[in-house]
Amino acid sequence: MVGSCLDLRGQRGDSETMNAFGKILSGKSNYKTVESIPKKLCSGCKKELKAQDKFCPECGAKAQ
Ligand SMILES: [Zn+2]
Repeated sequence: MVGSCLDLRGQRGDSETMNAFGKILSGKSNYKTVESIPKKLCSGCKKELKAQDKFCPECGAKAQ
């Protein structure tokens, strides 16, 4: 799916844009999009980790 590559981080804080994305993704107004998914960063290299990552795939540091 092409849309999976959308980077919404630059849009954070723009609620109208987020609502628009929510409508596109869900068909509902005010639907919470990827913004509601907590992200964690590697304590070593600051790479963005997936929620299920136990260790950083980049530098091997233990995920917090
Ligand atoms: Zn790392």
